[in-house]
Amino acid sequence: MTTSHYIAGRWVEGQGSDCISVNDPALGQPFAELMAASVAQVDQAVTAARGALPAWKNTSASERAAYLRGFAEQLGQRREALITLQMRNNGKPRHEAEIDLDDAIATFGYYAELAEQLPSKNRDVPLAAPGFSARTRLEPVGVVGLIVPWNFPLVTSAWKLAPALAAGCTVVLKPSEVTPLIEQAYGQIADALGLPAGVLNIVNGKAETGAALSNHNGLDKLSFTGSNSVGSQVMRSASAQCRPVTLELGGKSAIVVFDDCDVGQAVEWIVAGITWNAGQMCSATSRLLVQDGIADALLPRLQAALEQLRVGNPLTEEVDMGPLTSQAQWLKVAGYFATAREEGLQRLAGGKALDRDGWFVSPTLYADVPKDSRLWTEEIFGPVLCARRFATEEQAIAEANDSRFGLVATVCSADPERAERVADALEVGHVWINSVQAVFVETSWGGTKGSGIGRELGPWGLSAYQSVKHVTRCLG
Ligand code: NAD
Repeated sequence: MTTSHYIAGRWVEGQGSDCISVNDPALGQPFAELMAASVAQVDQAVTAARGALPAWKNTSASERAAYLRGFAEQLGQRREALITLQMRNNGKPRHEAEIDLDDAIATFGYYAELAEQLPSKNRDVPLAAPGFSARTRLEPVGVVGLIVPWNFPLVTSAWKLAPALAAGCTVVLKPSEVTPLIEQAYGQIADALGLPAGVLNIVNGKAETGAALSNHNGLDKLSFTGSNSVGSQVMRSASAQCRPVTLELGGKSAIVVFDDCDVGQAVEWIVAGITWNAGQMCSATSRLLVQDGIADALLPRLQAALEQLRVGNPLTEEVDMGPLTSQAQWLKVAGYFATAREEGLQRLAGGKALDRDGWFVSPTLYADVPKDSRLWTEEIFGPVLCARRFATEEQAIAEANDSRFGLVATVCSADPERAERVADALEVGHVWINSVQAVFVETSWGGTKGSGIGRELGPWGLSAYQSVKHVTRCLG
């Protein structure tokens, strides 16, 4: 049993009623257990964050930047332990676990720099009218609740924690019940750095704990990353209190491949876009749109590439793809395989669970999927790719945009002008041209339509935790 809640600068045991099993998905077996936080403990965490706010928001920006640099350094010092834990609990291949850690480190380093620039943003505003002066003051939003999913635990939390702390907010973080141990590192680092008690609090638990946090009237803002169904509940709680909310939700993103592409290179991009993290990415490019002139050459090579991927236990084998992270996700993906059979989809690769212990599925490709298929329209969150052919650029843009989601897209073309034109026409938050899933802290993250509200990363990620104040003075 693990003691895993960090409240007011102390580690405490959970007093909730849920017992959470922490699983190794490659074996389908638990390796740790913890008790969820109770509703009263969530309240204690929010109270601690409220109590810590006045002093924290008045620290100098350079002091906060020093703490953020400390987080980056301390993550680096815990490198091997954090990589192994992600491999064991998420089922991530080693190279993916390493990239996640490096992303989290880069995020804290980046927001340390932005924190240092904060004083220069509080400046006078030139006014056309005489007799008045005005100045801008960027203030922290206040006490913020952060609720995150399990697919990139270190990264998703870093994208929220680092800008929130940089802005001068105090926080209560609720990690996912699927991966509750990984983000404990942030509490341990807070301890090691002597971060003032209550600035960062961590409560673990399932839906009840998340709901206790998102409904709490002591929050000034909630930032949520997760599914659309829970996001909509979180938004309802925020609306009841007219409270701001950032939502990073699901996706059903397109990868558009024009017939001037090198087939081998295109196959590499397509495979990476659907099998990284076993396809459990909000930004998975799970809808392949391939131009008529290249489709017959590309689809057999794509099928072969998917079938050749090494799927296995990242802790004991050399693998390209690990298991799905939870049994629930494995059952969900298996349900889509059943739907594909009922719909009579043309299966070119995979479409089944692997015959071994653990929550493995094979990388899957369906071709010529009808536009109204559930597999074409719904987020599956697994290594399941659906393909359709297109004739013209206009048709590709229309089909890519024909989705209730709008998170990301990839455009593959040897014609730079066309690629830029298509990128501009896609109704999403981020487009990659001739690359996949390349995320940089300086660029924004977030979606249009059903993929959410607001942006993370870059200066936009910091603004999400700031309130703009102006002070206007009569000079007369
Ligand atoms: P989820 O919505 O089930 O859970 C997310 C978090 O919400 C967890 O911590 C969970 O415990 C908590 N929660 C559950 N019920 C709650 C409630 N009633 N009130 C408050 N909190 C509650 O999502 P998941 O399965 O953990 O993650 C997968 C989803 O996350 C996918 O849809 C994926 O696309 C999305 N996601 C989006 C992004 C993005 O940046 N847009 C990034 C990663 C994941």
